[in-house]
Amino acid sequence: MARDVMSVRLWLPRIRVLGVVADLPERLVVRVGSTVRRPKCPGCGAPSGRTHDRRDNKVRDLEVSGRPVTLVWERRRMVCEPCGGRRFCEDHPAFEGRLTARLARRVVADARAMTVNAAARRHRLGWDLVNSLVVAWAGLVGERRRRRRCRLLLVDETSIRRRHRYVTVLVNGDTGEVLAMVPHRNAQALSGFLASQGHRWCRGVKVVVSDGSQAYKAAISQRLGHARHVLDRFHVIRWFAAGLTAVRRDVQRRPEGSKPAFDPEVFRARFLLMRRPDTLDDTEQARLDGLFAAHPRLKAGWDALGELHGLYLAKDRKGALEALDRSADIYGTGQIPEFSDIVDTFLAWHEQILSWHRTGRPSNGRIEGTNNLLQVLRRKAHGFTNYTNFEARGILTT
Ligand SMILES: [Zn+2]
Repeated sequence: MARDVMSVRLWLPRIRVLGVVADLPERLVVRVGSTVRRPKCPGCGAPSGRTHDRRDNKVRDLEVSGRPVTLVWERRRMVCEPCGGRRFCEDHPAFEGRLTARLARRVVADARAMTVNAAARRHRLGWDLVNSLVVAWAGLVGERRRRRRCRLLLVDETSIRRRHRYVTVLVNGDTGEVLAMVPHRNAQALSGFLASQGHRWCRGVKVVVSDGSQAYKAAISQRLGHARHVLDRFHVIRWFAAGLTAVRRDVQRRPEGSKPAFDPEVFRARFLLMRRPDTLDDTEQARLDGLFAAHPRLKAGWDALGELHGLYLAKDRKGALEALDRSADIYGTGQIPEFSDIVDTFLAWHEQILSWHRTGRPSNGRIEGTNNLLQVLRRKAHGFTNYTNFEARGILTT
Protein backbone atom coordinates (compact mmCIF):
# COMPACT_ATOMS: atom_id res chain seq x y z
CA MET A 1 0.00 0.00 0.00
CA ALA A 2 2.81 2.40 0.88
CA ARG A 3 4.26 1.88 -2.56
CA ASP A 4 0.93 2.78 -4.14
CA VAL A 5 0.81 6.04 -2.25
CA MET A 6 4.28 6.88 -3.48
CA SER A 7 3.23 6.21 -7.07
CA VAL A 8 0.49 8.83 -6.91
CA ARG A 9 2.56 11.59 -5.41
CA LEU A 10 0.76 14.67 -6.68
CA TRP A 11 3.39 17.40 -6.50
CA LEU A 12 0.77 19.88 -5.44
CA PRO A 13 2.18 22.38 -2.94
CA ARG A 14 0.60 22.32 0.54
CA ILE A 15 -1.51 19.30 -0.30
CA ARG A 16 -1.24 16.02 1.52
CA VAL A 17 -2.33 12.68 0.07
CA LEU A 18 -4.65 11.02 2.57
CA GLY A 19 -5.25 7.84 0.64
CA VAL A 20 -6.09 6.24 -2.69
CA VAL A 21 -9.82 5.78 -3.11
CA ALA A 22 -9.75 4.01 -6.46
CA ASP A 23 -6.76 2.90 -8.51
CA LEU A 24 -8.30 1.37 -11.64
CA PRO A 25 -7.06 1.17 -15.21
CA GLU A 26 -9.66 3.76 -16.26
CA ARG A 27 -9.45 6.19 -13.35
CA LEU A 28 -7.54 7.25 -10.32
CA VAL A 29 -9.24 8.78 -7.31
CA VAL A 30 -7.14 10.21 -4.51
CA ARG A 31 -8.27 11.64 -1.20
CA VAL A 32 -6.35 14.79 -0.24
CA GLY A 33 -6.30 17.50 2.39
CA SER A 34 -4.66 20.87 2.86
CA THR A 35 -1.50 21.13 4.98
CA VAL A 36 -2.32 24.74 5.82
CA ARG A 37 -2.88 24.59 9.57
CA ARG A 38 -4.72 27.82 10.13
CA PRO A 39 -6.66 28.98 7.03
CA LYS A 40 -7.54 32.67 6.93
CA CYS A 41 -11.12 33.90 7.29
CA PRO A 42 -12.20 35.67 4.08
CA GLY A 43 -14.26 38.08 6.23
CA CYS A 44 -11.66 39.47 8.64
CA GLY A 45 -8.41 37.87 7.49
CA ALA A 46 -7.69 36.26 10.86
CA PRO A 47 -6.34 32.70 10.78
CA SER A 48 -8.46 30.09 12.46
CA GLY A 49 -7.45 26.70 13.84
CA ARG A 50 -10.96 25.59 14.80
CA THR A 51 -12.44 23.08 12.38
CA HIS A 52 -16.22 22.86 12.37
CA ASP A 53 -16.54 19.95 9.95
CA ARG A 54 -15.24 18.56 6.65
CA ARG A 55 -16.95 18.09 3.33
CA ASP A 56 -15.78 16.21 0.26
CA ASN A 57 -15.14 18.34 -2.83
CA LYS A 58 -14.38 16.59 -6.09
CA VAL A 59 -11.64 18.31 -8.07
CA ARG A 60 -10.36 17.19 -11.46
CA ASP A 61 -6.58 17.12 -11.91
CA LEU A 62 -4.23 16.51 -14.85
CA GLU A 63 -4.42 13.03 -16.30
CA VAL A 64 -1.71 10.56 -15.30
CA SER A 65 -0.69 8.17 -18.08
CA GLY A 66 -3.95 8.83 -19.86
CA ARG A 67 -6.00 8.12 -16.75
CA PRO A 68 -8.40 10.81 -15.56
CA VAL A 69 -7.51 11.84 -12.02
CA THR A 70 -10.05 13.03 -9.50
CA LEU A 71 -9.04 14.41 -6.15
CA VAL A 72 -11.45 14.20 -3.27
CA TRP A 73 -10.57 17.25 -1.25
CA GLU A 74 -11.55 17.02 2.39
CA ARG A 75 -12.44 20.66 2.58
CA ARG A 76 -12.70 22.05 6.07
CA ARG A 77 -15.29 24.44 7.36
CA MET A 78 -13.66 26.61 9.97
CA VAL A 79 -15.05 28.68 12.80
CA CYS A 80 -13.90 32.29 13.03
CA GLU A 81 -13.88 33.62 16.60
CA PRO A 82 -13.36 37.33 15.73
CA CYS A 83 -16.39 37.11 13.42
CA GLY A 84 -18.55 35.86 16.27
CA GLY A 85 -18.26 32.18 15.47
CA ARG A 86 -19.08 32.62 11.79
CA ARG A 87 -18.16 29.62 9.67
CA PHE A 88 -16.20 29.72 6.46
CA CYS A 89 -14.95 27.20 3.91
CA GLU A 90 -11.19 27.10 3.48
CA ASP A 91 -9.70 27.98 0.09
CA HIS A 92 -6.59 26.54 -1.47
CA PRO A 93 -4.34 28.03 -4.17
CA ALA A 94 -4.01 24.65 -5.89
CA PHE A 95 -7.74 24.52 -6.62
CA GLU A 96 -9.90 26.66 -8.86
CA GLY A 97 -13.46 25.56 -8.41
CA ARG A 98 -13.88 22.06 -9.79
CA LEU A 99 -10.38 21.89 -11.32
CA THR A 100 -6.85 22.09 -10.02
CA ALA A 101 -5.15 25.34 -11.03
CA ARG A 102 -2.64 23.41 -13.12
CA LEU A 103 -5.37 21.60 -15.04
CA ALA A 104 -7.16 24.93 -15.62
CA ARG A 105 -3.94 26.37 -17.04
CA ARG A 106 -3.50 23.37 -19.32
CA VAL A 107 -7.07 23.55 -20.57
CA VAL A 108 -6.69 27.24 -21.42
CA ALA A 109 -3.40 26.58 -23.21
CA ASP A 110 -5.06 23.82 -25.22
CA ALA A 111 -8.05 26.02 -26.04
CA ARG A 112 -5.56 28.59 -27.35
CA ALA A 113 -3.88 26.11 -29.63
CA MET A 114 -7.07 24.33 -30.71
CA THR A 115 -10.60 25.42 -29.99
CA VAL A 116 -12.78 25.40 -26.90
CA ASN A 117 -14.53 22.37 -28.35
CA ALA A 118 -11.36 20.37 -28.90
CA ALA A 119 -9.93 21.27 -25.49
CA ALA A 120 -13.19 20.23 -23.83
CA ARG A 121 -13.10 16.89 -25.61
CA ARG A 122 -9.45 16.26 -24.84
CA HIS A 123 -9.94 16.82 -21.13
CA ARG A 124 -13.39 15.24 -20.99
CA LEU A 125 -14.88 18.44 -19.65
CA GLY A 126 -18.06 20.27 -20.60
CA TRP A 127 -17.93 23.04 -23.22
CA ASP A 128 -19.45 25.55 -20.80
CA LEU A 129 -16.82 24.87 -18.17
CA VAL A 130 -13.93 25.20 -20.61
CA ASN A 131 -15.42 28.30 -22.17
CA SER A 132 -15.86 29.96 -18.79
CA LEU A 133 -12.21 29.22 -17.98
CA VAL A 134 -11.15 30.77 -21.26
CA VAL A 135 -13.31 33.85 -20.74
CA ALA A 136 -12.01 34.31 -17.17
CA TRP A 137 -8.42 33.90 -18.27
CA ALA A 138 -8.85 36.28 -21.22
CA GLY A 139 -10.45 38.76 -18.83
CA LEU A 140 -7.34 38.79 -16.65
CA VAL A 141 -4.99 39.00 -19.63
CA GLY A 142 -7.04 41.81 -21.17
CA GLU A 143 -6.98 43.75 -17.91
CA ARG A 144 -3.22 43.42 -17.67
CA ARG A 145 -2.75 44.49 -21.28
CA ARG A 146 -5.00 47.51 -20.84
CA ARG A 147 -3.03 48.71 -17.82
CA ARG A 148 0.21 48.88 -19.79
CA ARG A 149 1.07 51.97 -21.77
CA CYS A 150 0.09 51.90 -25.44
CA ARG A 151 1.95 54.25 -27.75
CA LEU A 152 0.42 53.08 -31.03
CA LEU A 153 -3.28 52.28 -30.90
CA LEU A 154 -5.07 50.52 -33.75
CA VAL A 155 -8.81 50.82 -34.06
CA ASP A 156 -10.62 48.45 -36.36
CA GLU A 157 -14.10 47.10 -36.71
CA THR A 158 -15.30 43.62 -37.36
CA SER A 159 -18.63 41.88 -37.29
CA ILE A 160 -19.55 39.13 -34.94
CA ARG A 161 -21.74 37.68 -37.66
CA ARG A 162 -21.48 38.64 -41.26
CA ARG A 163 -22.81 42.14 -41.81
CA HIS A 164 -24.45 42.64 -38.48
CA ARG A 165 -23.60 43.11 -34.82
CA TYR A 166 -20.37 44.98 -35.18
CA VAL A 167 -17.59 45.24 -32.64
CA THR A 168 -14.78 47.76 -32.31
CA VAL A 169 -11.41 46.06 -31.94
CA LEU A 170 -8.63 47.84 -30.06
CA VAL A 171 -5.10 46.62 -30.69
CA ASN A 172 -1.76 47.69 -29.24
CA GLY A 173 0.15 48.33 -32.48
CA ASP A 174 3.54 47.85 -30.85
CA THR A 175 2.82 44.37 -29.58
CA GLY A 176 0.02 43.27 -31.90
CA GLU A 177 -2.08 42.30 -28.88
CA VAL A 178 -5.83 42.77 -28.81
CA LEU A 179 -6.65 45.01 -25.84
CA ALA A 180 -10.41 44.77 -26.01
CA MET A 181 -13.39 44.33 -28.26
CA VAL A 182 -16.35 46.52 -27.48
CA PRO A 183 -19.87 46.22 -28.87
CA HIS A 184 -20.87 48.47 -31.80
CA ARG A 185 -18.77 50.59 -34.11
CA ASN A 186 -20.09 54.03 -33.30
CA ALA A 187 -18.43 57.01 -31.65
CA GLN A 188 -19.76 56.01 -28.22
CA ALA A 189 -18.15 52.58 -28.49
CA LEU A 190 -14.68 54.00 -29.00
CA SER A 191 -15.24 56.99 -26.76
CA GLY A 192 -16.50 54.76 -23.95
CA PHE A 193 -13.45 52.53 -24.19
CA LEU A 194 -11.10 55.52 -24.09
CA ALA A 195 -12.95 57.04 -21.13
CA SER A 196 -12.70 53.80 -19.18
CA GLN A 197 -8.96 53.68 -19.88
CA GLY A 198 -8.57 57.02 -18.14
CA HIS A 199 -6.85 60.27 -18.94
CA ARG A 200 -3.32 59.12 -18.17
CA TRP A 201 -3.49 56.11 -20.44
CA CYS A 202 -4.96 58.23 -23.24
CA ARG A 203 -2.11 60.74 -22.87
CA GLY A 204 0.32 57.89 -23.50
CA VAL A 205 -1.18 57.17 -26.93
CA LYS A 206 0.93 59.03 -29.48
CA VAL A 207 -0.41 57.59 -32.72
CA VAL A 208 -3.83 56.16 -33.46
CA VAL A 209 -4.57 54.30 -36.68
CA SER A 210 -8.15 53.78 -37.82
CA ASP A 211 -10.22 53.19 -40.91
CA GLY A 212 -12.16 55.99 -42.59
CA SER A 213 -15.10 55.99 -40.21
CA GLN A 214 -16.47 59.41 -39.24
CA ALA A 215 -17.63 57.97 -35.93
CA TYR A 216 -14.14 56.91 -34.95
CA LYS A 217 -12.76 60.22 -36.19
CA ALA A 218 -15.13 62.05 -33.85
CA ALA A 219 -14.23 59.92 -30.84
CA ILE A 220 -10.51 60.24 -31.57
CA SER A 221 -10.59 64.02 -31.83
CA GLN A 222 -12.63 64.16 -28.62
CA ARG A 223 -10.45 61.88 -26.48
CA LEU A 224 -7.12 61.62 -28.29
CA GLY A 225 -6.82 65.13 -29.69
CA HIS A 226 -3.15 65.26 -28.73
CA ALA A 227 -2.26 62.11 -30.73
CA ARG A 228 -1.59 61.88 -34.44
CA HIS A 229 -4.46 60.23 -36.26
CA VAL A 230 -3.39 58.14 -39.23
CA LEU A 231 -5.70 56.50 -41.71
CA ASP A 232 -4.99 52.83 -42.18
CA ARG A 233 -3.00 52.30 -45.36
CA PHE A 234 -5.01 49.29 -46.50
CA HIS A 235 -8.28 51.16 -46.29
CA VAL A 236 -6.84 54.07 -48.25
CA ILE A 237 -5.51 51.80 -51.00
CA ARG A 238 -8.88 50.08 -51.16
CA TRP A 239 -10.61 53.44 -51.68
CA PHE A 240 -8.17 54.41 -54.39
CA ALA A 241 -8.46 51.05 -56.11
CA ALA A 242 -12.25 51.47 -56.31
CA GLY A 243 -11.63 54.30 -58.80
CA LEU A 244 -9.69 52.07 -61.17
CA THR A 245 -12.32 49.34 -60.83
CA ALA A 246 -15.02 51.82 -61.86
CA VAL A 247 -12.97 52.86 -64.92
CA ARG A 248 -12.30 49.23 -65.84
CA ARG A 249 -16.01 48.33 -65.62
CA ASP A 250 -16.91 51.19 -67.90
CA VAL A 251 -14.15 50.39 -70.41
CA GLN A 252 -15.01 46.70 -70.65
CA ARG A 253 -18.71 47.36 -71.27
CA ARG A 254 -19.87 46.63 -74.84
CA PRO A 255 -22.87 47.93 -76.74
CA GLU A 256 -26.21 46.48 -75.67
CA GLY A 257 -26.93 43.10 -77.25
CA SER A 258 -23.32 42.08 -77.94
CA LYS A 259 -22.01 38.76 -76.70
CA PRO A 260 -20.32 38.58 -74.34
CA ALA A 261 -21.62 41.77 -72.84
CA PHE A 262 -18.11 42.78 -71.83
CA ASP A 263 -14.65 42.77 -73.33
CA PRO A 264 -13.09 39.54 -72.03
CA GLU A 265 -9.53 40.85 -72.46
CA VAL A 266 -10.16 43.75 -70.10
CA PHE A 267 -12.19 41.65 -67.68
CA ARG A 268 -9.46 39.03 -67.47
CA ALA A 269 -6.89 41.65 -66.53
CA ARG A 270 -8.87 42.80 -63.48
CA PHE A 271 -6.51 41.30 -60.92
CA LEU A 272 -3.40 42.23 -62.85
CA LEU A 273 -4.60 45.84 -62.91
CA MET A 274 -4.79 45.88 -59.12
CA ARG A 275 -1.21 44.81 -58.61
CA ARG A 276 1.29 47.38 -57.45
CA PRO A 277 3.25 48.62 -60.52
CA ASP A 278 6.61 47.87 -58.90
CA THR A 279 5.71 44.19 -58.49
CA LEU A 280 4.99 43.39 -62.17
CA ASP A 281 7.36 41.36 -64.33
CA ASP A 282 8.07 42.11 -68.01
CA THR A 283 5.42 39.76 -69.42
CA GLU A 284 2.74 41.20 -67.17
CA GLN A 285 3.77 44.74 -68.01
CA ALA A 286 3.66 43.90 -71.75
CA ARG A 287 0.16 42.49 -71.37
CA LEU A 288 -1.00 45.67 -69.66
CA ASP A 289 0.71 47.86 -72.27
CA GLY A 290 -1.27 46.03 -74.97
CA LEU A 291 -4.50 46.77 -73.14
CA PHE A 292 -3.55 50.39 -72.55
CA ALA A 293 -2.86 50.95 -76.27
CA ALA A 294 -6.46 49.91 -76.97
CA HIS A 295 -7.96 51.72 -73.94
CA PRO A 296 -6.24 54.99 -73.01
CA ARG A 297 -8.74 55.64 -70.21
CA LEU A 298 -7.66 52.43 -68.53
CA LYS A 299 -4.08 53.64 -68.69
CA ALA A 300 -5.02 56.98 -67.13
CA GLY A 301 -6.81 55.22 -64.22
CA TRP A 302 -3.94 52.82 -63.76
CA ASP A 303 -1.39 55.63 -63.73
CA ALA A 304 -3.47 57.59 -61.22
CA LEU A 305 -3.66 54.59 -58.91
CA GLY A 306 0.05 53.95 -59.39
CA GLU A 307 0.84 57.46 -58.17
CA LEU A 308 -1.39 56.91 -55.16
CA HIS A 309 0.58 53.78 -54.36
CA GLY A 310 3.60 56.04 -54.79
CA LEU A 311 2.28 58.06 -51.88
CA TYR A 312 3.20 55.16 -49.65
CA LEU A 313 6.36 54.23 -51.52
CA ALA A 314 7.71 57.75 -51.12
CA LYS A 315 10.45 58.18 -48.51
CA ASP A 316 8.91 61.24 -46.92
CA ARG A 317 6.02 63.64 -46.88
CA LYS A 318 7.55 65.73 -49.66
CA GLY A 319 7.80 62.71 -51.95
CA ALA A 320 4.23 61.76 -51.06
CA LEU A 321 2.96 65.21 -51.99
CA GLU A 322 4.76 65.01 -55.32
CA ALA A 323 3.14 61.64 -56.06
CA LEU A 324 -0.21 63.19 -55.17
CA ASP A 325 0.42 66.08 -57.51
CA ARG A 326 1.11 63.74 -60.39
CA SER A 327 -2.07 61.83 -59.60
CA ALA A 328 -4.06 65.07 -59.49
CA ASP A 329 -2.60 66.07 -62.89
CA ILE A 330 -3.96 62.89 -64.45
CA TYR A 331 -7.35 63.52 -62.88
CA GLY A 332 -7.13 67.08 -64.20
CA THR A 333 -7.14 65.83 -67.79
CA GLY A 334 -10.80 64.86 -67.30
CA GLN A 335 -10.23 61.33 -68.56
CA ILE A 336 -11.18 59.60 -65.32
CA PRO A 337 -14.26 61.24 -63.77
CA GLU A 338 -14.66 57.97 -61.78
CA PHE A 339 -11.95 59.26 -59.45
CA SER A 340 -14.00 62.24 -58.35
CA ASP A 341 -15.26 60.60 -55.12
CA ILE A 342 -11.71 59.59 -54.30
CA VAL A 343 -10.51 63.15 -54.71
CA ASP A 344 -13.30 64.33 -52.37
CA THR A 345 -12.45 61.68 -49.80
CA PHE A 346 -8.83 62.56 -50.07
CA LEU A 347 -9.52 66.20 -49.43
CA ALA A 348 -11.55 65.27 -46.34
CA TRP A 349 -8.88 62.97 -44.95
CA HIS A 350 -5.61 64.29 -46.34
CA GLU A 351 -4.25 65.11 -42.90
CA GLN A 352 -4.80 61.57 -41.60
CA ILE A 353 -3.45 60.05 -44.82
CA LEU A 354 -0.30 62.16 -44.96
CA SER A 355 0.34 61.74 -41.22
CA TRP A 356 1.58 58.29 -42.12
CA HIS A 357 4.93 59.79 -43.11
CA ARG A 358 5.22 61.71 -39.84
CA THR A 359 4.53 58.86 -37.47
CA GLY A 360 7.28 56.45 -38.38
CA ARG A 361 5.17 55.00 -41.20
CA PRO A 362 3.13 52.71 -38.94
CA SER A 363 2.77 49.84 -41.31
CA ASN A 364 5.23 47.34 -40.02
CA GLY A 365 4.81 43.60 -40.08
CA ARG A 366 3.06 43.66 -36.76
CA ILE A 367 0.15 45.74 -37.94
CA GLU A 368 -0.17 43.63 -41.04
CA GLY A 369 0.07 40.52 -38.91
CA THR A 370 -2.72 41.75 -36.67
CA ASN A 371 -4.76 42.68 -39.71
CA ASN A 372 -4.42 39.15 -41.01
CA LEU A 373 -5.35 37.81 -37.64
CA LEU A 374 -8.47 39.90 -37.56
CA GLN A 375 -9.35 38.50 -40.97
CA VAL A 376 -9.11 35.02 -39.53
CA LEU A 377 -11.21 36.09 -36.57
CA ARG A 378 -13.71 37.64 -38.94
CA ARG A 379 -14.12 34.30 -40.64
CA LYS A 380 -14.25 32.46 -37.37
CA ALA A 381 -16.71 34.99 -35.99
CA HIS A 382 -19.62 33.17 -37.60
CA GLY A 383 -19.47 30.70 -34.77
CA PHE A 384 -19.72 33.32 -32.05
CA THR A 385 -23.01 34.19 -30.49
CA ASN A 386 -21.89 36.81 -28.01
CA TYR A 387 -19.34 39.56 -27.60
CA THR A 388 -17.68 38.07 -24.54
CA ASN A 389 -16.70 34.81 -26.23
CA PHE A 390 -15.54 36.69 -29.30
CA GLU A 391 -13.38 39.04 -27.25
CA ALA A 392 -11.91 36.14 -25.28
CA ARG A 393 -10.97 34.50 -28.57
CA GLY A 394 -9.42 37.70 -29.85
CA ILE A 395 -7.29 38.09 -26.73
CA LEU A 396 -6.44 34.40 -26.71
CA THR A 397 -5.08 34.38 -30.27
CA THR A 398 -2.97 37.56 -30.19
ZN1 LIG B 1 -13.42 36.31 10.46
